[in-house]
Amino acid sequence: MKIYGWGKFPTVAAELFAPIDETALQEFIAEEQNRSIICRGAGRSYGDSSLAETIVSSRFLDSFAEFNSADAIVDCGAGVILGDILKLAIPKGLFLPVLPGTKTVSVGGAIAADIHGKNHHIDGCFSNFVISFNLLLASGEVIQCSQVKNTELFRATCGGMGLTGVILSARIQLEKVSSVTINQRSLVASDLDSCLDILDAHNESKYSVAWVDCLASKRSLGRSIVYLGEHGDDDNLQVRIRRSLSVPISTPSFLLNKYTMKAFNSSYFAIKGKNVDSRPVAYDSYFSPLDIIRNWNRLYGAKGFLQYQFVVPTEAGKAGLREVLTEVNSAGKGSFLAVLKRFGCANENLLSFPIEGYTLALDFKYEQNLMPLLSKLDKIVLANNGRIYLAKDARMDSATFKASYPKWEAFCELKRKIDPESRFRSLQSNRLGITAETTQ
Ligand SMILES: Cc1cc2nc3c(=O)[nH]c(=O)nc-3n(C[C@H](O)[C@H](O)[C@H](O)COP(=O)(O)OP(=O)(O)OC[C@H]3O[C@@H](n4cnc5c(N)ncnc54)[C@H](O)[C@@H]3O)c2cc1C
Repeated sequence: MKIYGWGKFPTVAAELFAPIDETALQEFIAEEQNRSIICRGAGRSYGDSSLAETIVSSRFLDSFAEFNSADAIVDCGAGVILGDILKLAIPKGLFLPVLPGTKTVSVGGAIAADIHGKNHHIDGCFSNFVISFNLLLASGEVIQCSQVKNTELFRATCGGMGLTGVILSARIQLEKVSSVTINQRSLVASDLDSCLDILDAHNESKYSVAWVDCLASKRSLGRSIVYLGEHGDDDNLQVRIRRSLSVPISTPSFLLNKYTMKAFNSSYFAIKGKNVDSRPVAYDSYFSPLDIIRNWNRLYGAKGFLQYQFVVPTEAGKAGLREVLTEVNSAGKGSFLAVLKRFGCANENLLSFPIEGYTLALDFKYEQNLMPLLSKLDKIVLANNGRIYLAKDARMDSATFKASYPKWEAFCELKRKIDPESRFRSLQSNRLGITAETTQ
């Protein structure tokens, strides 16, 4: 069957196995010694990190072993979706301490990409809240890993993009909250400098994110709206169930061009471009506004799209971001609003993405002449000591990866010990030179 990630690029013909439980999964790994495989959670990574000729789905590892409200701990299968944890947690005054821009990702995918939310500058990555997980190795052995037990494997697996084995289940520390209403404050920034100044000045705010008009140019380059958020105090502990709309088919490619996108961004700024004092908004509007439109990735047409997310360290921030936005602008690419966030300190995991600085995510429609632009952006990011997010990547080359993820050799050394045949591999790991390309 044809399988792709959220960006619909690239597409592979793959065999998909969906074992119905942990035992079936273990049997599959033991019996299919000659296959190299990669695990797939909810398929929300954009590129090819969960693509290979043989893919094993974790979606049936979806049961809850324990939900301890007193200690705010959930123990569940790796296929459980974050949104389903929220449904149990919220009525008990608990919340996930790190939420990405969609709540439809799986626990396994959240650990494997060591995801970040709009509060990285305060709380760090998802792995900060992973008490332990059970990992099925290539040998068939199941190992429990935590910050204090099998620490090396813990640090390689969090952010390790499924290359150390299959995460079967995890114990996660939740956060106590008195309300899931988010008091949101909007601040308009007329350009990039003022956007970064606002983010820096509000570094104490629990959540922050800026929506940047990446098509604005010259003096308006980087104009944006910064959304700050804090949990409210109105005792609202209600799960929000919204009926989602759907984009039924891939829209014709010509509908998405620089004129339609410019018009969209301009009207967004015309409507939202004013400072608004703190006002209550629903948590899913704040954290995952796009979840209301199922399959919004179809807007980019049948050929798909690429998301380019990078981080540059604080010192290089302004110059690096300006260079990238200028390049995107003069190429007439870029699309809907881009997302800019502040990152706090890096953690000790070997391949986790965040370093202290600023991260920007831009969407590009896939078209032949896009790749040269992205190669230019890679060079700017590298020159500014930054790096590209593996969960969004579909095309970075091995040299760029190795120059920007300094712990890649330590990762490969550990992988050789636990998976000498490189049974766990993806199109991405082959491309990045973490695993060598072979035919199965
Ligand atoms: C709209 C949208 C917004 C997003 N916003 C953010 C954001 O704000 N912050 C952020 O950090 N990310 C964000 N992401 C990216 C997303 O959080 C990650 O790509 C995440 O890994 C997806 O999880 P998944 O379950 O869909 O995993 P998949 O896409 O299926 O797989 C991703 C990786 O995890 C591995 N994996 C999955 N399950 C397991 C398992 N059980 N054991 C071992 N490895 C496994 C796969 O092999 C692959 O390498 C966003 C994605 C979308 C579509």
